[in-house]
Amino acid sequence: MLTTLRRIIQDVSAAPTFREALELLVHDVRESLGTEVCSVYLRNIDTDGFLFASTEGLNTDAVGKLSLGPHEGLVTLVADRAEPINLEDATHHPRYHFIPEIGEEPFNAFLGVPVIHHRQVLGVLVVQQREQRRFDESEEAFLVTLSAQLASIVAHAEATGDIAKLIEHSALEGLRRDTMFPGVPGAPGISMGTAVVVHPAANLDAVPERTTDDVFTELSVLDRAINSVRRDIKHISEQFAQSLPAEELALFDVYLHMLDDNALAGEIRERIHGGQWAQGALRQVIRKHERSFEAMEDPYLRERSTDVRDLGLRVLAYLQDIRTKKTYFPDDTILVGDEITPSMLTNIPREKLKGIVSVRGSSNSHVAILARALDVPAVMGAVDLPILELDDVALIVDGFYGEIFTNPSPAKTDHYQHLIDEEAEFAEELEELRELPPVTMDGTRLALWVNIGLTGDISRSLDRGAEGIGLFRTEMPFMEKDRFPSEEEQRKIYRAHLEAFSPRPVTMRTLDVGGDKSLSYFPIAEDNPFLGWRGIRVTLDHPEIFMVQARAMLKANAGLDGDLRIMLPMISSLSEVEEAKALVERAYVEVIEEGLVVRQPLVGVMVEVPAAVYQARQLARMVDFLAVGSNDLTQYMLAVDRNNPRVAELYKETHPAVLNALREVAKAAHAEDTYVGICGELAGTPQGAVLLMAMGYHVLSMNAANLPKVKWIVRNIKLSDARRMLARVLRMDTAEEIEDFMMRQLVDAGLGRVVPSHHH
Ligand code: PEP
Ligand code: MG
Repeated sequence: MLTTLRRIIQDVSAAPTFREALELLVHDVRESLGTEVCSVYLRNIDTDGFLFASTEGLNTDAVGKLSLGPHEGLVTLVADRAEPINLEDATHHPRYHFIPEIGEEPFNAFLGVPVIHHRQVLGVLVVQQREQRRFDESEEAFLVTLSAQLASIVAHAEATGDIAKLIEHSALEGLRRDTMFPGVPGAPGISMGTAVVVHPAANLDAVPERTTDDVFTELSVLDRAINSVRRDIKHISEQFAQSLPAEELALFDVYLHMLDDNALAGEIRERIHGGQWAQGALRQVIRKHERSFEAMEDPYLRERSTDVRDLGLRVLAYLQDIRTKKTYFPDDTILVGDEITPSMLTNIPREKLKGIVSVRGSSNSHVAILARALDVPAVMGAVDLPILELDDVALIVDGFYGEIFTNPSPAKTDHYQHLIDEEAEFAEELEELRELPPVTMDGTRLALWVNIGLTGDISRSLDRGAEGIGLFRTEMPFMEKDRFPSEEEQRKIYRAHLEAFSPRPVTMRTLDVGGDKSLSYFPIAEDNPFLGWRGIRVTLDHPEIFMVQARAMLKANAGLDGDLRIMLPMISSLSEVEEAKALVERAYVEVIEEGLVVRQPLVGVMVEVPAAVYQARQLARMVDFLAVGSNDLTQYMLAVDRNNPRVAELYKETHPAVLNALREVAKAAHAEDTYVGICGELAGTPQGAVLLMAMGYHVLSMNAANLPKVKWIVRNIKLSDARRMLARVLRMDTAEEIEDFMMRQLVDAGLGRVVPSHHH
């Protein structure tokens, strides 16, 4: 059963059009269950009826023409009940409804299964049989399993307008005007522009094992890919013919030989004959040769493993049809991709990047954080977006509500242009606050600092009036390289920040890789990366990495009056703090011994694991400051992966449990007289800033882009009012209730300009 199921899903997913996908589906199901009829009915969202979308066994002439009204017939009963209905004799059922055009009168046995996506019935899958027979339990279970897998395919078709296209005579071609694709807000703001779809670089390690029955196709695909690579290599070699010495040019010949039938290509073919698909065969062969080269004594030959890998990637790129990296970007680029990563942004000139749309990820993915820092509107987790059809299509990106509109009509465009203008006007007003301190109307002074590092944009932060760096994510200098950056390389980067901000505080976090931040040269493969080797766990296991970084930080401050603070990520037990503090101390002594004049840095820990919340007092006693990383704290408290769009709706920083934890941490810090800050994204939101200020957080550290708005709020509210709001909020039961309440409170307090309110 499992293989049949897999085959059907594979067939359906690989079909060139949705119509053909449905045809394959009804064909395959009918065959594998040995029934006379299989049909699919799909909900027509506009009419709420069910379109007769595909059949084998009933009257195909009615396909695409006939629709069942709501509550009409057994099919809609399946939909109404949202559960399977299995009948021996359907014709005697009270909901049986005779429709002559469909031609189902001879069939008595009926099994209908709903197709449900995100709690919504999108369609019904039906099998029917002439003689009186009951479909048995295993058949029912089979259809239920199949339909659960079909659901996302159908939802996708619905979102892309493919279902509408099934309706005969509907003249809809391509993407409809003003079609809205929902995602989650990634970075606030609205923009309009042209979609540029980017694909990830080919990755051999990500190629799955897969068997094939169609050896012939796989072989011809391979041939085409290899020929293309040969052509490319010849082309490059001709380009370099004048400028490279002969022995270097010979390398290209070596490449070409490697692709010969009596070398790599032959071996790959053999494996395809053995039933492996082309990409899998390629991966196996490349891995094998890489390993044997790596094992060689001779350093020259050992290096050849890189060539084998390079060749493998080139072939894979063609197999996956990713020929060239994008190099041209229009002035109003909206970057669209299955999974946009921080490194993809580095290729695009900042002034051309107007928006970001990612099918995967959620508001707390690092690329979303980066987008906020760059002040580029972003929508994440737009799972239904048909990215393959989007290249060059006009888009509106609404980062406030997490919505994307394709092919906007003039009316839609005008509406959003108006909103863009309003935002720009407000931004200009906020400019005037730059030199003014963040003091509440009743006189409390707050510290509003910035998170930095993903962009490295120092001047922008100063422009926004930042009084310190609350979180310097040091991962970027590590990600940009193809090896660990040296002490001196790191020192220069850290120095630039300390110089720019001195004497203001600069809080540098020690390397926090693992989770969703990986280094190409230091791969970590784990089933649960967020629960794995991450942050301080990695650097304590590699003191050499930690020490180089700590020394670079300390040296960067030499001769300066900079206020360097070192912060430790992902702390889950006190012993980690002991060990890390000892390493920092050792680094300090070493630097002093080298004769440099440096100040002793403050050392603090991030509270981002629930364990740290419950040991906040002990932690506060051990260090100079606490800083809550609410992004991770939220994901760990709610057990919701911050990158997974499926559960993005459950990720709520205003969840009562999270807010309670935040308050406990603040109280623990106060009790120990320790400075406490927060540098998660919550601090940069209007509601978050108000609640955190009421809890007594001394420092709110946020993206530079959010800072002016938060400062505006701080300057227009009383701490006593914020405290009253917090007291009410702490008695509430759900995040929704809290969000609504805070929204209303801010509007009533005359602060409505900072909360988006243009929705429908
Ligand atoms: C956090 O977890 O809240 C945080 C500030 O760190 P990062 O987002 O880099 O994990
Ligand atoms: Mg974190």
